[in-house]
Amino acid sequence: MAAAKDYYDILGVSKNATQEEIKKAFRKQARKHHPDAGGSEERFKEINEAYEVLSDPEKRKQYDQFGQYFGGNVPPGAGASAGGAGAWPGGFTYTHVGDVGDLGDLFGDLFSGFGASTGRARTATARRGADLQYDVTLSFDEALRGISTKVDVRRDETCSTCHGTGARPGTGRTTCPTCKGSGHVTQGQGLFAFSRPCPRCGGEGTIVEQPCSTCKGRGTVTRVKPVTVNIPAGVTDGSKLRFKGKGEPGAAGGPPGDLYVVTHVKPHPYFTRDGADVVIELPVTIAEAALGTEVTVPTPAGERVKLKIPAGTQDGKVLRIPKKGAPRLKGKGAGDLKVRVRVRVPTKLTARQRELLEEFARVYTEDVRSHIR
Ligand SMILES: [Zn+2]
Ligand SMILES: [Zn+2]
Repeated sequence: MAAAKDYYDILGVSKNATQEEIKKAFRKQARKHHPDAGGSEERFKEINEAYEVLSDPEKRKQYDQFGQYFGGNVPPGAGASAGGAGAWPGGFTYTHVGDVGDLGDLFGDLFSGFGASTGRARTATARRGADLQYDVTLSFDEALRGISTKVDVRRDETCSTCHGTGARPGTGRTTCPTCKGSGHVTQGQGLFAFSRPCPRCGGEGTIVEQPCSTCKGRGTVTRVKPVTVNIPAGVTDGSKLRFKGKGEPGAAGGPPGDLYVVTHVKPHPYFTRDGADVVIELPVTIAEAALGTEVTVPTPAGERVKLKIPAGTQDGKVLRIPKKGAPRLKGKGAGDLKVRVRVRVPTKLTARQRELLEEFARVYTEDVRSHIR
């Protein structure tokens, strides 16, 4: 098991250091290891992460309690090297926000020659792109055999004019005057003081004075891009398919989101779906139902198969033709073709037909309602 990160060790302070000592040690370490001063970026991030936890009494308490056990188990992408947010076992959620802009309150004076004020792009926190969801309508046959189709996906992409900074080319981001670059403002006093994201810069710590004309300062532009998706054979009405990595692109090196496609299947004149099974209603005459017969049934694949209707088949009886349904979406094989027999009672009778039925009624003496008497 990897050794836990010792934040006290990183800052070079004792376990019972005061907030003032921690702040002082942090200034010293950060100045020494600042990447713009030739330090290692890895080390600088570690220092920043250590300070972020130890300078917050609540986080420090949790770290003291759980940190030494779980420090080596920070999930990938959540540690100091990758930035981002993560949850520590033990219920303590933290966000790694370490970069020059966020340290403005401490370093505004020390590092005035570095970071945002030089026009260098701010190191943003890696963020996963958003998941997107679109609907696709298919014919009954397309749902059975699967198709490759294009989905017009609207995505926010990094503006190519300003490369995502939101600033007019040639200009840069400047330290936010409201929060002086810290990204947050403090309200209230003493015990009731609390910090909230800066309303001017939205917590970024920097602002754009001359917005990029292409993206109006947003740093992103919305593009409609056709994305080809392969709809597998056997989808049903309402299937939700996931296309990994085809959602919105991530920010600052973060992974892209996923694209979800919900399928809608148009009705067929005589077939319906019941999962992988396909259902067809098969009308038969009263004579066919009573005497039995053999019929030809169309399958969804366009075949015609013979089906025996046994003598005495009741209305609503379902007969199965194995493996002539739809392909199974998960796993191999296909569902069945379910033939639901419908006994059609004649509504118009010729004189001869009436005569024969009356004759039949006279000789058919079975009491079909005996059970409800
Ligand atoms: Zn732009
Ligand atoms: Zn601000």
